[in-house]
Amino acid sequence: MPSDFTRLTGLRQVLDYPTTATTRRQGPAAAPGEPPDRLALLCPGHSEALPERPGTPADADGLSLSCGSVLGYRSIEQLLQSHADLWLTPLTWVAPKAHAWAWPEVLDQADRVLRARLGEDSADEDETLQSIAMMLGTASRNAAEGDLYQATVPLAYCETLAQRL
Ligand SMILES: [Zn+2]
Repeated sequence: MPSDFTRLTGLRQVLDYPTTATTRRQGPAAAPGEPPDRLALLCPGHSEALPERPGTPADADGLSLSCGSVLGYRSIEQLLQSHADLWLTPLTWVAPKAHAWAWPEVLDQADRVLRARLGEDSADEDETLQSIAMMLGTASRNAAEGDLYQATVPLAYCETLAQRL
């Protein structure tokens, strides 16, 4: 593990496979001379996966994590925005911009949308969506209590589950 990667703000599992990763892909740096904003760990079979997270290939550097692990080093706001871009907005149609990036409000609204959807359409009540709704409710409460960092923990779990939809 390179020594400049000390500010880990996110650990997400974005591929649903248990294979151990042997290569990593470094995302772009926030500024020249800064460390990359994320590392994606991938196995050879998935080295072209995650096109939404482009970057430079590099050795896994002794990291023994599952294929599809993404270590994030961005600010909490950037992390929340990436959750919105990658699954929250596509799933709920709640756009952070429409709420001026007030994250407690964004998550509360997304939570309401999902619960309404589960309530009105019994055919849609599959376990995955129910689990996402439960985790999103937790994230919404964390955000309402002022702990956005804590909210990113259930959101990471939602992201993994959302791949099964
Ligand atoms: Zn893989």
